Amino acid sequence: MTDQVYLDDSYLKELEAEIVSVDGNKVVLDKTIFYATGGGQPNDVGVIVKDDLKFVVSDVKKEEGEIIHYVEGSGLPIGDKVICKIDWERRYKLMRTHTAAHVLAAAIAKKTNAMITGGELGLDKSKMDFSVDELSNEQAQEFVKAANEALAKNLDINTYYKTREEFKKDPSLVKLAKGFPEHIQKVRIVAIGDYDIQADGGTHVKNTKEVGKINLIKIENKGKGRKRIYYSID
Ligand SMILES: [Zn+2]
Repeated sequence: MTDQVYLDDSYLKELEAEIVSVDGNKVVLDKTIFYATGGGQPNDVGVIVKDDLKFVVSDVKKEEGEIIHYVEGSGLPIGDKVICKIDWERRYKLMRTHTAAHVLAAAIAKKTNAMITGGELGLDKSKMDFSVDELSNEQAQEFVKAANEALAKNLDINTYYKTREEFKKDPSLVKLAKGFPEHIQKVRIVAIGDYDIQADGGTHVKNTKEVGKINLIKIENKGKGRKRIYYSID
């Protein structure tokens, strides 16, 4: 399995890695800083550099437990050392947005006990679905205001790991209505101060002061017990 270096250092923009396998345009590395789409966070893009050749990485997916880099062009030989470079502007915006999403979800949960039923981070617009029966524009504005107040407290974000056994003892670590995958034995925890602590595999900033401010775009009624907020960050 590829070492997902971004889980412990989300600020790495470049990394030397070795090509483990090449199958057409699918490349597997021994370690990577490219985030594979998952948990509502879109994949990174960037380049893999071999000497003076640049191979564009246009997509990154997790397939059967492997992180697959979809590379344009061919000529990357197995066993060679390469340099990975991610599109940092895109990634950093997604990091800020991911932290914003956790804080917003926590603000909603503190007022309603809602669980998160879905969501997707975007560069310009993100969405979050949660399990409440009613949602007015005013309420949504209140959630966003509470989240912005929390962000303004300059909370540090820390990540650490729990064993499955330790993790099971604290159900509050799961904020998703669908639960947490059973097969994961070493559970990564992302703590935003003590405002939000949950199991998560995404990339986050180090302090909420990096996030900026959340703006409410609109709300949508997705049916009984399912309301959606569209938001962006400054
Ligand atoms: Zn998350």
